[in-house]
Amino acid sequence: MKIVIIGNGILGLTTAYKLLRKDPTLTISLIGPYDNKGCASLAAAAMFNSFAEIDTSTLGNEIELQKFLFNKLSTPHWPQFIKQLEEESGLTIESGYGTYIINNHVTDSLEDDNFDAIINALDTYNEHYELIKPSQIPKYKPSVNGRAARAMFVTNEGWVNPVSLINGLKLILEKSGRVNLINGYCKLLHKSNHSIEYALMENGDKITGDAYVLSPGATFSKILSASNLELNTPKIFYGVGCSLLLKTGANTLDNCVRTPNRGLACGVYSAPQNATHTLVGASNFIAVVPEENARATSVYTLLKSAMEQINTDYYRAELVKVNVGWRPTSADTLPLLGTTSIPNLVVATGTKRDGLHCSPVISDYMSDLVLGNNTEHDFSLFKAEREIVKIYTREEAINISVRHSINAAYQHDFVPSKNRMVEDLEKHYRNDLIELHDKVGAIDWGIPPEMIQMYRYGHIA
Ligand SMILES: Cc1cc2nc3c(=O)[nH]c(=O)nc-3n(C[C@H](O)[C@H](O)[C@H](O)COP(=O)(O)OP(=O)(O)OC[C@H]3O[C@@H](n4cnc5c(N)ncnc54)[C@H](O)[C@@H]3O)c2cc1C
Repeated sequence: MKIVIIGNGILGLTTAYKLLRKDPTLTISLIGPYDNKGCASLAAAAMFNSFAEIDTSTLGNEIELQKFLFNKLSTPHWPQFIKQLEEESGLTIESGYGTYIINNHVTDSLEDDNFDAIINALDTYNEHYELIKPSQIPKYKPSVNGRAARAMFVTNEGWVNPVSLINGLKLILEKSGRVNLINGYCKLLHKSNHSIEYALMENGDKITGDAYVLSPGATFSKILSASNLELNTPKIFYGVGCSLLLKTGANTLDNCVRTPNRGLACGVYSAPQNATHTLVGASNFIAVVPEENARATSVYTLLKSAMEQINTDYYRAELVKVNVGWRPTSADTLPLLGTTSIPNLVVATGTKRDGLHCSPVISDYMSDLVLGNNTEHDFSLFKAEREIVKIYTREEAINISVRHSINAAYQHDFVPSKNRMVEDLEKHYRNDLIELHDKVGAIDWGIPPEMIQMYRYGHIA
């Protein structure tokens, strides 16, 4: 059996890895540019976070809850997975466990509520954590105004250096002698007689196989529309995100330190990458077309946040690299995983901001589907060909979006005047959202906060 995998990010690489282990006879062509342009996996922290990503709505909303339970499945796999990859590649893959979550007052009460929601979820699922004094966090040295009032240590949530992880995976695949890493871009998939016949490269080469795995991250919809396959999948957008690699020397953290989620993003975090470097993240905005460079506002906000909210001594850190990655973000914000109506095509994308963490379970699932094995998982919620899943009621969505919008303003230096400005702004956002919902016919369902602009400008019908 010959498998063609399109996309050389974490999902493509881990699926190739699992396929090799499960079937010692197959060969793989893995397509992707060697420079990994826009690769989300390489811009990630990369945190293994499930509980740290809990919002006030997570446990009470049936769909969000299922997404959380799916995300949580991968956490226990990482220690053994990294050990195995280190043994097979001979490379060190820097990683660690234990995450400090801080609750400071740089933004509004949304993050206090998210902090409480995390505690509630940890208690509900009997997950180990400790409430600690913020001053107990090693190398945590915020500014006076940026200091946290509360903090906790979540024992099992960790991080990995994504560059070492990807290098380790690539080396193992190369060493196997059964994987052909093809440098370049797949332009489209050509179908004939109801199945995919070949992947057409941008340079005109045709790559053939028995089964195809489409996992090119955020460029998924571009390939799909060029292929004219008539698959009814939610559109994938570019969740453009920036992270900063700092050389922090002696100030490098022992563990990841992060806030709870903030409006429209995952808050501020710093994660060690090795003994001397720290990754600070992350910005996010949803776009229809990719952006290759980081925006000035993203770099400014991340640097300021890291210096004020994590460690003031970062003023003398060296800015080593500005990463830009495109989070594959679907129109309903849920992943697209599994088989399609084309028998020899499976897809894996739409993982938004936790695909690296979820890759052990996703790759296990994808490799079983390719090989026709039974799978223990039911991920039908994430099936690729679907109508957009309506996660929220109209009222829920509008309430969440209003809170997110105000909170996002605080993340960008908003200082309200001392009058009814915040209440007036809330009213303005609410009225605007009601109008938008009416306009797009969202009467008994609500627009996810991240997708407001995509609906407003007609990118989602
Ligand atoms: C700043 C940032 C921080 C993040 N932090 C975290 C985190 O802490 N934890 C976490 O779990 N997740 C995090 N994420 C999300 C995570 O990175 C993604 O969910 C996940 O990496 C997606 O993996 P992927 O393999 O689907 O796509 P990608 O990693 O984007 O890989 C896709 C690859 O396919 C290649 N490609 C593109 N077009 C083509 C084509 N036409 N043909 C062939 N190849 C193509 C790309 O160059 C790229 O190398 C973060 C993302 C960003 C941007």
